[in-house]
Formats: sequence, C-alpha cells, structure tokens
Amino acid sequence: MVLFDYAIDEEFLTTLLSTGLPDTDLPKRTYLIAVVKTDNGEEIYNERFKNIPNDKHAEERMLNDEDFLRAVADHHNVKIILTSNYSPCSKCARKLISFCKKRERKIRKFIIQFPFLFKMQEEENKSGLRSLNEVGVTLRAMNADSWLKVGIDLDYMDVEDKERITERDKKTAYILKQELETKKRNKR
Ligand SMILES: [Zn+2]
Repeated sequence: MVLFDYAIDEEFLTTLLSTGLPDTDLPKRTYLIAVVKTDNGEEIYNERFKNIPNDKHAEERMLNDEDFLRAVADHHNVKIILTSNYSPCSKCARKLISFCKKRERKIRKFIIQFPFLFKMQEEENKSGLRSLNEVGVTLRAMNADSWLKVGIDLDYMDVEDKERITERDKKTAYILKQELETKKRNKR
C-alpha cells in the first residue's frame, strides 16, 4: 500500500501518519510510541507498542512493561510523551489515570498526542478524555512539530500529502477542543 510519495520505510510511522485521512480505511490496530524523559531532557525510555487484537491494548502493554515502570520509578519529575494513531479508549483512559494518580510526585508532565480521535460517537470515550484532561494529562492533536519529533518531516512530503495530513490534524485539534470544553461549559 503506497500512501505517500515520501518514502517512509516503516509500517509503524506510515500507519501513525495515515490514520484518519479521508479515503483511507481506519487501521484495526493501535500503534503507540512511548517516550520517558528526565527533568533535564535526557531520553531514558523509547519503545513502540501495538495492541494484541482481542487481548491487550497498546497502552495496557506499555503499563505492564517493566522497563517503562522502572524508568518512571527510578527518576523524579519525568516527562512522559505518548504518540499514538488513536486517542485512548475509555478503558485505557481509566488505567492511565490510575497510573498517574499513584505517581503524582514522579511525573512532571504527561502528554498524549494523536492524529485521530478514537470512536467519538461513544460517549464513554469522550468522558475518558475529559477525565484525563482533569487529572492534568495534556491531550493534543499532532502537528508539524510533533511529527518531526517522532521522525517525520512534513516538509519533505508531497505538497498534497502534507495538506491532507495537516487538515486531518487540524480537524482533530478542533474536535478535541470542543469535547474538552463541553465539560467546562456544563460545570458553569
Ligand atoms: Zn484502549
């Protein structure tokens, strides 16, 4: 399957980049890159996970990974950055929140970024995102800068591909903002 003129030799990054583009099928699997950085910006952990169909979600696999747990346990003020093709489902949101709450003093910043929101027609997925936001997890759509940090330079891509990707990311950012603001409005 050739999605882009720009040759990305990795299925992993290609899937991350193409999830949710118009006229493409949504991938059946979740692709996740987990990075942990220390207070001074040193990267101490960088792993990739895929879900195991009908078994473990990618986020669950990460939360069960001993090296991940150790990277967080052995350091103070870590920054965790998750890049996934989908936003977390409600079940993973609950698990991630419980993980964060138990390690409040360890984690300085927790970012989850994605190009596409997972099944927003289901209310529980929306409320999962709002709950993550409430405990201080930063949720954001991908953009040129965050793509660059995972190794994809949109400027090297075909102009049309770059436009498609940027439009999709902007749309995701817009929907996410709306969803996160719904709660605030309701609270007033
Ligand atoms: Zn999940």
